[in-house]
Amino acid sequence: MSTKTKIARSPAATSPGAGANRRPFTSLRDWLAHLASTGRLAVTKPNANLAHEVAAIAKVLDGRKATLFPNPGGHALPIVSGLVSARQWIAEAMGVDHADMLARFEHAAANPRPCEVVTKAPAQDVVELSPDLLRDLPIPTHNEHDSGPYITAGLIISKNPKTGRQNVAIVRLQVSGPKKLGALLLPRHTNLFYEMAEANGAPLPVAVVIGIDPLSLLASQAIAPLDQDELEIAGALQGRNLPVVKCKTSDLLVPAEAEIVVEGHMLPKVREPEGPFGEFPQYYGERADRHVIAIDAITRRKDAIYHTIGGGGLEHLVLGGIPREATLLGHLKRTFPGVRDVHLSHGGICRYHLHVKLAKRSDGEPKNVMMGAFAGHYDVKQVIVVDEDVDIHDPAQVEWAVATRFQADRGLLVVNDSQGSKLDPSTRDGLGSKMGIDATKPIAAPEMTFKKIYVPGEDAVDLTRDVDTTALAGWTKKLGAG
Ligand code: MN
Repeated sequence: MSTKTKIARSPAATSPGAGANRRPFTSLRDWLAHLASTGRLAVTKPNANLAHEVAAIAKVLDGRKATLFPNPGGHALPIVSGLVSARQWIAEAMGVDHADMLARFEHAAANPRPCEVVTKAPAQDVVELSPDLLRDLPIPTHNEHDSGPYITAGLIISKNPKTGRQNVAIVRLQVSGPKKLGALLLPRHTNLFYEMAEANGAPLPVAVVIGIDPLSLLASQAIAPLDQDELEIAGALQGRNLPVVKCKTSDLLVPAEAEIVVEGHMLPKVREPEGPFGEFPQYYGERADRHVIAIDAITRRKDAIYHTIGGGGLEHLVLGGIPREATLLGHLKRTFPGVRDVHLSHGGICRYHLHVKLAKRSDGEPKNVMMGAFAGHYDVKQVIVVDEDVDIHDPAQVEWAVATRFQADRGLLVVNDSQGSKLDPSTRDGLGSKMGIDATKPIAAPEMTFKKIYVPGEDAVDLTRDVDTTALAGWTKKLGAG
């Protein structure tokens, strides 16, 4: 879709190893090997402490390197974290240029591929029918005030009791006992299935998949309609019919190549304390009575790898942000053909602050685009609309556009008392304001007034060709001698 508008120095072009692989990655192990071969996997000393130390090291390396922890807390199974902690890495996992990533995701979401049921699966090499969560899995405790160990990278799979269609989501899971998890369900699909089951006094079977390829992780975050199985979007992203296998204690179908699967059922009419837990806005979600999952079995690969995601880290933010960007871009383009690209900024926790690149046709259009974006997702709190000559992925360039093309008396839009994110602590339980900033130049402005300066040839500079590294020693000596 946007293949023609290649940014000369896009992040993907400079990311190590980018472009080397043009096929999507289908396996966690291949992806980890690829990170290792491109200098992006750190292996720690063995026996890192599961209480805070694993999370602390992963946090420091987040965005730079994935981290592998051998024998964490003396446990046989290793932990990995930071698998996809930069947006360029996701483009790389998808096998596309960074500029084509959102279009590729949208295409996969619109063209899902059915899963293929298999009977033998590495995910069931080992079957533990008398499970004990902390004995069987290396589950870390992350933040200072977290209530204890949490499963943070678990894809929770459940089935619509009426239609039989499956759903995938990531929810935070508190270890509440050897065979018990506390879950925070947002008012979306898993919760709807649970309410259907609970109305009949029945439990809802669930499976929690831990340790999966990066594209399945990404697909789990798609803003998909009810009864669209996110595993089918994962298949479309991977370019294959995703192999799935039936659980040992339920009819749920889980990815056959998963590292670990925790099988269980969500109890009807039961609520127990869960939280606090450090969430994506980098604040704590409060303790309250929430859903409870009873564990029936744990299946895994023989040498399973456990995955953990730090709350509010780049891995967490980027995984949620890219599917949202793809959805918002599709939504805006349907009404505003001049919208070229969108970006949910890191500082806006990849949820709240949206940058929009617009080839505007009239001076009023940026405000219409803002209203469209606010309507596109209630989490969007601030929209900055810029022209085509601004790199919306570079916060300094966006700020430059605001500094030089925006005047608050005519370019500012404020909408009071609208629905926002309940996890934004500055709202009144989600009730908050929206702000739009029009940082586009006026259509009638003389061409030179807003013309960005440009040095002829700046895009063609090749530092490996134009810088003479062998000359430095001689110059250092000459300068020192002076
Ligand atoms: Mn869903």
